[in-house]
Amino acid sequence: MFIETHAHLNDKAFDADRGAVLDRCRAAGVDKLVEIACAAGEWEAGEKLAAAREGSVFCAFGLHPENIEEAGPAQLAELPAWLAKKCCVALGEIGLDYWWKPEKKAEQLRLLADMLPLSVKFSKPVVFHTRNGRDPASCNAYLELALELKKWTFNNKKRSRGVLHCFSGGWEDAKAGLDLGLLLGINGTFTYKSNEPLRETVKKAGLENIVLETDCPYLPVQSMRGKRNDPSYIPEIARAAAGWLNIKVEALAEATTANASALFFE
Ligand SMILES: [Zn+2]
Repeated sequence: MFIETHAHLNDKAFDADRGAVLDRCRAAGVDKLVEIACAAGEWEAGEKLAAAREGSVFCAFGLHPENIEEAGPAQLAELPAWLAKKCCVALGEIGLDYWWKPEKKAEQLRLLADMLPLSVKFSKPVVFHTRNGRDPASCNAYLELALELKKWTFNNKKRSRGVLHCFSGGWEDAKAGLDLGLLLGINGTFTYKSNEPLRETVKKAGLENIVLETDCPYLPVQSMRGKRNDPSYIPEIARAAAGWLNIKVEALAEATTANASALFFE
């Protein structure tokens, strides 16, 4: 059994065959998935998808930093009601994107600080979107996120609960998150030819600190680049990661499922 921790199945890329994709995902051994509804316009659709597949589809609700221009007080005021929904297992994805929006750094940090207390209030883990700037030394989203998180006490566990989704930083960035108790979300990018440093970082982080995700419809595995991604490819990501870590895929499935269960479902 696998858990897909990050899907965007409400993307229009799935409009023609969403149900069939979910069936395929089940057949591939992906029993649970977290649908990421990260714009106010996606919240209702997320809830509907979870209701249609109760027990296998769950939601994260939040405001993505890439949509910083749209995220205003009205949306922030609405967000708590979504975090109280039965299908909600996380706040997210929220965070800092210094690759696409470095000029909106201050606004992104403010939005993050506005939303983080909701994680404490609703006892929900956080799905973080974190992307460094073109020069990570001068524009490091991971280190700034860690600084922000240190201001918060997460009330229900010793760990600050959350995942650095689509982890793409270096070892120092991973370390900053791991020290705070965050997990690393591993997806198709792990299989990309140029991503040797990422694979090394994951090896160093260890099996106890990773969860699997696709970030579909984006970021398919190397052999499928350019095509639509979906959660049924989770086992393929698992096989790649297990091969790299030199362990059996069953062991990787068991560990990442336990990590994801503890984060989202306990
Ligand atoms: Zn995402």
